[in-house]
Amino acid sequence: MDASDLLRNSLLQLSKSGTVRQAVEKAPVSRSVVRRFVPGERTADAVAATAELRATNRLATIDYLGEDTTDLTQAIRTRDHYLELLAALADADLSQHGMGEVSLKLSALGQYLPGDGHKIALEHAREICQAAANAGTTVTLDMEDHTTTDATLESLRELRQDFPWVGAVIQSYLRRSEADCRDLAHEGSRVRLCKGAYKEPESVAYQSSGEVDQSYVRCLKILMAGDGYPMVASHDPRLLEITAALADHHGRDSDSYEYQMLYGIRPEEQKRIADRGHQMRVYIPYGEQWYGYLMRRMAERPANTMFFLRGLASKN
Ligand SMILES: Cc1cc2nc3c(=O)[nH]c(=O)nc-3n(C[C@H](O)[C@H](O)[C@H](O)COP(=O)(O)OP(=O)(O)OC[C@H]3O[C@@H](n4cnc5c(N)ncnc54)[C@H](O)[C@@H]3O)c2cc1C
Repeated sequence: MDASDLLRNSLLQLSKSGTVRQAVEKAPVSRSVVRRFVPGERTADAVAATAELRATNRLATIDYLGEDTTDLTQAIRTRDHYLELLAALADADLSQHGMGEVSLKLSALGQYLPGDGHKIALEHAREICQAAANAGTTVTLDMEDHTTTDATLESLRELRQDFPWVGAVIQSYLRRSEADCRDLAHEGSRVRLCKGAYKEPESVAYQSSGEVDQSYVRCLKILMAGDGYPMVASHDPRLLEITAALADHHGRDSDSYEYQMLYGIRPEEQKRIADRGHQMRVYIPYGEQWYGYLMRRMAERPANTMFFLRGLASKN
């Protein structure tokens, strides 16, 4: 394990620590540091960020931040935030033609509640899907750590019975993912492929970046050769080049797949991709609970960590 793997593992460990979270959230972090990755805390901030993206022909998928809740009131509040967001997107004329969709974490909707958690989260997701359908847009189910993969794919299957456009997420670091891609590469199936952002044990996940990248390419080949709608979520220049080559090889039109990147990461490249006539969707997280999200972004890239630490050290 090299130094960057060590840093990554430590940051991912810290992303789960409640004590560190409280300390970081209370630290005098300048708003601009968090704002690079999270445009704001309110629905209006997410809508404004979506409108800004539209001005440069970029699409959006919006995530109300929060995860791992064991409090029913909080899960209901999260559902209500999504309902409010979808209504606001529709009012601002940002929900039609796939412009602004939403991304959901089932753990934020109650998946971990004792007893009926799975059912409660599914019901909340269903209500959000119905609101998305009313607004003329779509929903993607984010994928969380590997202990939830089966349950999330099961919820996906159930939701797709009524809302066949619900998007799935596959993480290439999981050893199982090629098989999941094969299952999901059918007509009408929207599948986001990403590397994966959680700390996972060797028994279920590739540990080295080389293996994760190779698995990404194998999964990408399956999705691009299939009949579904691949959503290529990566900032990795080599994987973006391979995507373009595979799209060319399979004669895919630019509206039969899309690129996805995170808000604040490689924005110039995002604009270049959109300018070339490709569909480029940006994942916009918003809300007060930015800690876990920010720690995962830092774990991915030492430069992000330095940016954050410099912000902590500065007074504004
Ligand atoms: C739209 C979207 C949705 C996602 N949803 C999920 C999800 O549901 N579940 C999940 O586990 N994970 C999700 N992720 C996170 C994902 O799994 C990765 O952790 C994250 O995207 C980083 O992986 P990467 O492919 O960009 O490659 P990395 O290995 O992080 O980066 C590869 C290369 O990209 C370039 N690069 C990366 N960052 C920068 C930067 N800031 N500036 C310049 N160049 C840079 C560099 O050349 C770098 O070497 C999502 C990511 C995206 C983009």
